[in-house]
Amino acid sequence: MQHVVVVGGGLAGLVSARAISKTGRRVTLLEKSARIGGKAGADLHGERLVEHGYHVFPTWYPNVRRILREIDVTLVDFDRYHYLLPGAFPEKVTVRGPSSLGAVAHNLMHGLLPWYQTVLFYNFTLDLVSQGLSNKRLLDRVSEIGLMRQAWYVTEAVAEMNQENLLKASAIPAYEMSAMTAKRIGSYWMKQASPFLSVLPGDLQSTFIEPLGKTVKDAGVDVRLGTTVSGLDVVDGRVAAVKTAGERIVADAFVLAVPFEVARTWIDDSLFALDPSLGNMNLLEAQPMCSLHVRTNKRVAGIPREHVFFHGGAFGLSFIDVAPLWSGWEGSELSFIASNFAPLRGLSEEGATRALLGEIFDYLPIKDQDIRDVVLNTNVKTPLFINTIGAWPNRPTARTRAKNLYVAGDFARNRIDLACMEGAVQSSLLAARALLEDAGVKDGLPEPLQPPVPSRALLLALRAGLAPAVLAAYATARVAEAISPKVSPRSASHRRQRGKAGAR
Ligand SMILES: Cc1cc2nc3c(=O)[nH]c(=O)nc-3n(C[C@H](O)[C@H](O)[C@H](O)COP(=O)(O)OP(=O)(O)OC[C@H]3O[C@@H](n4cnc5c(N)ncnc54)[C@H](O)[C@@H]3O)c2cc1C
Repeated sequence: MQHVVVVGGGLAGLVSARAISKTGRRVTLLEKSARIGGKAGADLHGERLVEHGYHVFPTWYPNVRRILREIDVTLVDFDRYHYLLPGAFPEKVTVRGPSSLGAVAHNLMHGLLPWYQTVLFYNFTLDLVSQGLSNKRLLDRVSEIGLMRQAWYVTEAVAEMNQENLLKASAIPAYEMSAMTAKRIGSYWMKQASPFLSVLPGDLQSTFIEPLGKTVKDAGVDVRLGTTVSGLDVVDGRVAAVKTAGERIVADAFVLAVPFEVARTWIDDSLFALDPSLGNMNLLEAQPMCSLHVRTNKRVAGIPREHVFFHGGAFGLSFIDVAPLWSGWEGSELSFIASNFAPLRGLSEEGATRALLGEIFDYLPIKDQDIRDVVLNTNVKTPLFINTIGAWPNRPTARTRAKNLYVAGDFARNRIDLACMEGAVQSSLLAARALLEDAGVKDGLPEPLQPPVPSRALLLALRAGLAPAVLAAYATARVAEAISPKVSPRSASHRRQRGKAGAR
């Protein structure tokens, strides 16, 4: 019987191991840590599980959602998110997912930007999403913000807003994110805007990863936790084994489902000779996306159910109060992500926590004495792949040129493009499929689902129809700038909010 070793027990490793094992092969999964799930998991702190970072599940995650249906998880759906401004709480600016004309009208009337800037913002989204895929060479070589800034109608306020949104949503500065990645994500979201996004009804580990892990074990996979792989052994032009501290594990085929920062340290002369393109992983980049979990003694009244973004701020903070959704904890359990952790990198954990709390106190009515406990995950040792300009050709494909070596993981090439759970799952199905095809399997191959995209003809027609509104919005923006050149729309809305806060 063919023996397959899968290295890495994150989502990609779990899903590929399961798909391969279902075809009757012997599969061994090696995971370095004491739990499965990788970045999409949670660790015990005292008696409670604290997530690596909060995770959202948009509607355009067909492969992840298929797994959730299988393990009988019903997601909690949201159609909006909110911005907070410093000192303005409980006033907030609510943005609705653009799933209907009513939602778009709401955003035009009540958004963070005045209506005319919002029209220009939406027009750029349409412009980006309606770019042809034949333009891929250009789109993968310019940043999203680069493409935006060369559009004649884009104002400073629109560019700033876009930069902030992108950083908070993906931890990728907009000047680094490839326009191609942004186009793909924009297309998926535009086609399936409702529900805008969803969350699990419990923590990632107990609600998602452990039930998935059970199906992996039920499929016959031998899961070995606490097993760190240190390299690959190449013999006679094939990968023959993986090396661990205690043993050399021999197999017929191998799936690497570890982060690229780990996999690239295993490229020695013999592996490079099998597939020189694997060396391009040295050109990929990753950044830590930090999380902070703050439990308060009492429920903080006025916090919405959905995600909240701090507008402005130094660390790209956003959060969701998970207490009402999960635990019934009598206080609030605020799960924060800091998308911009770079300024805090050299600090001690205590120093970084104090800096993040300092910003949180500026936006929320919380003080030190209200806090029950705080857990910081800097995630510096487990950074997230970032889709920089030009990264695509350097990302490995599921099937490598080494005959029996396959790669899975959020950084491996797949149609989702972004480093996220759906990308990890899609890439793992591609790796399992390639391995099984090479083993001569014809029936029952894994079929990764693709999220649908809007019709390009429809998008172009919409853009043409919107042209008069764009001209009117652009003219209004220019007049507004001429009247008060030093006040950007953002600082104007900022002041508006501060005024409301002052009335409290
Ligand atoms: C803070 C944060 C928030 C996020 N939010 C979202 C979100 O909202 N929505 C979303 O879709 N995605 C989100 N993501 C991204 C998502 O979590 C990842 O893209 C996905 O989980 C990656 O899965 P993976 O299997 O490719 O990699 P990983 O999860 O990194 O798994 C790799 C596994 O390999 C193991 N390993 C490493 N080295 C070795 C070794 N030498 N030997 C054996 N095993 C090894 C690791 O322990 C790990 O279990 C977020 C990520 C972070 C960090």
